[in-house]
Amino acid sequence: MSHPPEPPRDRLERRLRDLRVSVTDRCNFRCVYCMPRDIFGPDFEFLSRQEILSFEEIHRLARIFVGLGVQKIRLTGGEPLVRKDVETLVALLAGIPGVEDLAMTTNASLLPQKAQALKDAGLHRVTVSLDALDEEVFHAMTDTSIPVSRVLEGIQVAQEVGLRPVRINMVVKRGANDGQILKMAEHFRGSGQTLRFIEFMDVGTTNDWRLDDVVPAREIHQMIDARWPLEPVDSEYPGEVATRYRYRDGAGEIGIISSVTQPFCSTCTRARLTAQGELFTCLFGSRGHDLKSLVREGATDEEIRDRIVGIWTGRTDRYSELRSEATRDLPRVEMFRIGG
Ligand code: SAM
Ligand code: SF4
Ligand code: SF4
Repeated sequence: MSHPPEPPRDRLERRLRDLRVSVTDRCNFRCVYCMPRDIFGPDFEFLSRQEILSFEEIHRLARIFVGLGVQKIRLTGGEPLVRKDVETLVALLAGIPGVEDLAMTTNASLLPQKAQALKDAGLHRVTVSLDALDEEVFHAMTDTSIPVSRVLEGIQVAQEVGLRPVRINMVVKRGANDGQILKMAEHFRGSGQTLRFIEFMDVGTTNDWRLDDVVPAREIHQMIDARWPLEPVDSEYPGEVATRYRYRDGAGEIGIISSVTQPFCSTCTRARLTAQGELFTCLFGSRGHDLKSLVREGATDEEIRDRIVGIWTGRTDRYSELRSEATRDLPRVEMFRIGG
């Protein structure tokens, strides 16, 4: 019996373990920290159908990545649920032997009608982005007319059909939704759904990021701990991005993702494939590596695999550890293209 190959390691000894696939650059929200409407308005030109990878192309690339040791695949976007028939892609990916975790990050607006089909297709779980419970704050963050109740319904339906455990991601931006931290914690305490707070990041170049807008992980922890005492939980696996805490009263767990104030580049095992088939080895990359041309020009699986191995073994990325005045003006891929 042949054994899977040893996963490639990059220049900093990090193995390749996760693949995030952006299935579309389109979205039905206009979150201010991701796709501000003044830039992504009605005239913005998104990728054409021909430009984006087909499901078959994504499936083929994912199979090659899994052959290299990738165990976790996450579908993202843009909003993955606006890609027509995305459950067909889920079924293709779920059929790849060796995929231990198949997840999706979504704004949940279409989950009420899609959750069952996703579950049936073989999706394991979903992570839902929700930045506020108060309608006004939610609207100010996401710039959509979809109400909070729809997102909560999406979470509920996902839970009911077995897309569990549902995780909730809340990006915290000072002065915008930090007033919702305790409210969100209270809402999700005891629900079986883990709320994770994410420091607002300087991804892309359009969201007017300022360090002053970041609420540091330490401050979020202190705020919640003062109300409902917390204790640390050991991470489940090396490279887990969230620092985990449990409520001492047994009401479950929270996570805090401190990408800005306590970076975790040394354990970063994630490769990212954009909707147009570029491979990025860092969320803050300036340039992707074009895999789509290889695929469309008839390369063999071995040739594609060698290209991926070459890219990964040359990887030196650690943007968050180097973040400074000097990195501020570097070109960076936009979040909606690379998928978070
Ligand atoms: N549309 C889906 C969603 O919102 O869940 C998937 C794509 S979205 C780009 C993936 C994740 O990135 C979301 O949880 C979102 O909140 C997060 N995100 C986007 N921009 C961010 C930023 N500037 N800082 C921190 N997280 C960000
Ligand atoms: Fe859309 Fe997600 Fe970006 Fe919000 S964070 S604009 S929901 S892709
Ligand atoms: Fe990984 Fe880049 Fe984020 Fe560091 S900055 S954790 S290398 S994606």
